[in-house]
Amino acid sequence: MDPVQTSRPADAMHAHIFDIDGTLIDSNHVDGELFTKAVRLHVRDCKVRQNWGDYTHVTDSGILEELLRDNSTDPTPELASAVRTSFVKLMEDHLSNHGPFPVIAGSRVFLDSLRRTPNAAVAYATGGWRETAQLKLEAAGFPTSGIPLASGSDHHDRIEIMRLAVDRLGGEFESVTYYGDAPWDRVCADGLNWNFMGVGARINGINDYTHLAALRYGGKQP
Ligand SMILES: [Mg+2]
Repeated sequence: MDPVQTSRPADAMHAHIFDIDGTLIDSNHVDGELFTKAVRLHVRDCKVRQNWGDYTHVTDSGILEELLRDNSTDPTPELASAVRTSFVKLMEDHLSNHGPFPVIAGSRVFLDSLRRTPNAAVAYATGGWRETAQLKLEAAGFPTSGIPLASGSDHHDRIEIMRLAVDRLGGEFESVTYYGDAPWDRVCADGLNWNFMGVGARINGINDYTHLAALRYGGKQP
């Protein structure tokens, strides 16, 4: 009789996909404020729903389209582009005036440790636009070259953004884990049948990656 194979192949690859705001850096509050400010530079006094989760697609492009329609404004590509340009400028100004957003404890070390793990592959998947995502990551000392970044500039639907992040890694994965800080992150990970690691108080997740890093390395820091 053939032996039953109970162990996984040692070289099986595992993908680790990270949301950014609230997951790697503590930026949710300011990001939302600047986004609203950018929209109001172009659509004065526009009304914004009480919670970002009240929008169908909680991504910069998805929220903007629905927000403009709520305010009887046609979401033309020109207007979207103008809002995005203003948002980038506001983010640049914020970072140069206040410095980088605080890093969620241990997140940068954990991400670096995964990058050095031979059977792990790392990518970013954020609902934010690419330009602001890169600004925030680079300011906080996260690598942006050599790590795929799928963003709200690619799609308005978070699940599509998450799928794209894995596509950009290429290859086959035995497992995919999504790290996120919001209820919609968990819903999307469930929808894709991915593992989910919750981060932050909003979803009763971890508030420090150090423990995760320690687990991976048998109690020692990498
Ligand atoms: Mg987030």
